[in-house]
Amino acid sequence: MTTTKREITCISCPLGCSLEVSLADGQVVAVTGNECPRGLSYARQECVHPERMVTALIPIPGRTPPLSVRTERPIPKDRIMDCLCAIAAARPTLPIRIGDVIIPDVVGVGVDVIATRDLL
Ligand code: SF4
Repeated sequence: MTTTKREITCISCPLGCSLEVSLADGQVVAVTGNECPRGLSYARQECVHPERMVTALIPIPGRTPPLSVRTERPIPKDRIMDCLCAIAAARPTLPIRIGDVIIPDVVGVGVDVIATRDLL
């Protein structure tokens, strides 16, 4: 059995507890430093299946500012670069309303990229 320790900061609330996470064979077996149970959930998520929201801007020819977009939910951290490449290749057509799906199921992770502003 391979055991390791990681120190991470819980970002689930502004308190920002410093967590020490013990892992055995890639699984979380103990967490210390959390002031509430959300820190335990965060540590499990961050150390085993880290995810992040992705935000980006898509230039629209002849229009400023560019279209701002984001993933509708966090996606696996190791797919962020693929997601950004897909966003860079997107050529959305106007008009676009906030919440419109710009890229459905981006890079096959089951999450849509949506517009975060109107561009009419
Ligand atoms: S462990 Fe709880 S109190 Fe501490 S930062 Fe996370 S959510 Fe906030």
